[in-house]
Amino acid sequence: MSILGIATHKFCQEHDAGPDHPERWGRVAVILDALQRESLWESVREYEARAATVEDVSYIHNPKYIEAMRRLCEKGGEFLPSMDAAVGPESYPAALHAAGAGLTLADEIMNGQIQMGFAAIRPPGHHSIYARPWGFCIFNNISILAKYLIEKYSLKRIAVVDFDVHHGNGTEQAFWADPKVLYCSIHQEDYFPADTGNWHDTGEGEGEGFTINIPVAARCDDETWLSAFDRYAIPRLEEFEPQIVLVSVGFDGHWRDIISGIKLTGKAFSGIGSRILKIAEGSADGKIISVLEGGYDDVGTAEGAVAYFSALMSRTE
Ligand SMILES: [Zn+2]
Repeated sequence: MSILGIATHKFCQEHDAGPDHPERWGRVAVILDALQRESLWESVREYEARAATVEDVSYIHNPKYIEAMRRLCEKGGEFLPSMDAAVGPESYPAALHAAGAGLTLADEIMNGQIQMGFAAIRPPGHHSIYARPWGFCIFNNISILAKYLIEKYSLKRIAVVDFDVHHGNGTEQAFWADPKVLYCSIHQEDYFPADTGNWHDTGEGEGEGFTINIPVAARCDDETWLSAFDRYAIPRLEEFEPQIVLVSVGFDGHWRDIISGIKLTGKAFSGIGSRILKIAEGSADGKIISVLEGGYDDVGTAEGAVAYFSALMSRTE
């Protein structure tokens, strides 16, 4: 069985998005609790996430935005409409460690210490763009990770699979014209953010054809979801031959999750885990880093996470 590194940090527990806000530490805790009850936990190695430096975050974000967020958080108590969440003094260190978790795991994987990683962090990241927070996200954790792998380890082909129920508009934007990153998102159509993630959005310039958007209808079930992924994502992912597969992991497409309309069960999350493993085994020696995005129903999130990681770690060699 593969060794899975899990990186988190206590600061990720402390970011408070506001009273009764769905984006809370409990949704990460249920994943860790559920995995600990599984036999796969014997193959888990735990890491304390390092903080991303301002230089790391600047791979993706405007330095003026980073500084503005630091000040806003320090001042505290403010609800940011663009983020749809509040920030406080704990939020900036939480965001730096959320971004740093992937970097900690990247170093371990590239140095051959582990085969797979899971950044069990919050706030999530895939909506935030160059100079603004968006949809509960402060810094774009997975984009910072992809750019770090390009800059530090000279990787030339990185696949980012995003199966959160929402479109990862921030990740798409970061690599819109970059052929080194194949961004592939399956998400609920005409949902959040509005007007992004359409079929015809495929990148531009050198990056034309390196963005794949697969919008699926509300009420989509496991079979329809997996067959859309098989049809539109798998051939392109295989052809791309990624050197590592990064995954924006969201369990908010689970049928129990009231934040979305699609109707997935553990079967879908298991199915996509097997497919991602196969892609990674094909060209990346099984190297996969999963980064947590959404998932707001505790039972659905735990079920989805156990199904996904059990499939991902089923590698036997
Ligand atoms: Zn989401």
